[in-house]
Amino acid sequence: MILLDGKKTSNDIKDEIAVEVAQLVASGSKKPHLAAILVGKDGASETYVNAKVKACLKVGFNSTLVRLDTNVTQEQLLVEVEKINFNSDIDGLIVQLPLPSHIDEMKVTQAILPTKDVDGFHPTNIGKMVLNLPTYLPATPAGILELLARYKVETSGKNCVVIGRSNIVGSPMSILMARNANPGNCTVTLTHSRTKNLIEITKTADILIVALGKAEFVTANMVKEGVTIIDVGITRVKSNKTKSGWKLLGDVDFKGVKNKCNFITPVPGGVGPMTIAMLLKNTLLSSKSNLY
Ligand code: NAP
Repeated sequence: MILLDGKKTSNDIKDEIAVEVAQLVASGSKKPHLAAILVGKDGASETYVNAKVKACLKVGFNSTLVRLDTNVTQEQLLVEVEKINFNSDIDGLIVQLPLPSHIDEMKVTQAILPTKDVDGFHPTNIGKMVLNLPTYLPATPAGILELLARYKVETSGKNCVVIGRSNIVGSPMSILMARNANPGNCTVTLTHSRTKNLIEITKTADILIVALGKAEFVTANMVKEGVTIIDVGITRVKSNKTKSGWKLLGDVDFKGVKNKCNFITPVPGGVGPMTIAMLLKNTLLSSKSNLY
């Protein structure tokens, strides 16, 4: 079993980005600049946004964090998005999800200029992804592709099963794995909560990508020998063994399945760190204006 080490790989990517940023600045260009909007005080969202700001510092980017109250109106939020859209110093904008229920996430996503949509959630960028045109790929699926590529996991002609069809992970992942590209060229089955006989399907997977948000859902009896497992899930559960009193679990019973795997991502330290690295990569791309 080979561990797909997202922590190490993301650090390698950050080092590569830092070198490129230093070269850009030395040649007279401005530093890439990522802006994030955080609405409310949700603990997990705070953690994710702080990690993104910290990562910006590490690679030499500028970062701007706009904090808005939970009760901010949709109109006020859209005004903030518009300000950043027209700030020529800012290359990338992310609005941390989820947003409070009185705000229409899709409306906000669509208000971000596609050229600054480094999360890759705007319909224009999703469309380009589907057509296999250069674009900002959604960060989590892009991180998974990068892990598969750097560890040289063969994907061509393989059966790939994806569990979960969210707009940010499962659905784009299924499209990317089916594209005529490397990684890609898989025969993909996309499964969800209405799927019948899930175990019969997961047992056919050469590559199993799990993103449903249910801790340790995938067990050894659901996979075949030699499978590659990508565990996207992150669930925080109480623990009396950690200093913080919490631990993170993936969607896969890691201990139970690992001996059947050729490759597997751990949680934490697998897909999570790769997501941030890809966000930085998209921001660097935007600052070089290579895409539009
Ligand atoms: P989501 O929007 O909640 O979607 C969950 C998907 O799982 C839905 O499509 C749902 O089906 C499906 N599902 C639920 N129960 C199922 C079952 N019993 N069998 C088969 N499918 C089932 O989830 P998400 O935003 O994609 O996130 C999934 C997990 O990944 C979460 O733990 C999240 O925290 C984590 N995540 C991690 C990263 C990272 O960087 N590592 C990034 C994003 C998300 P229906 O569509 O039928 O409801």
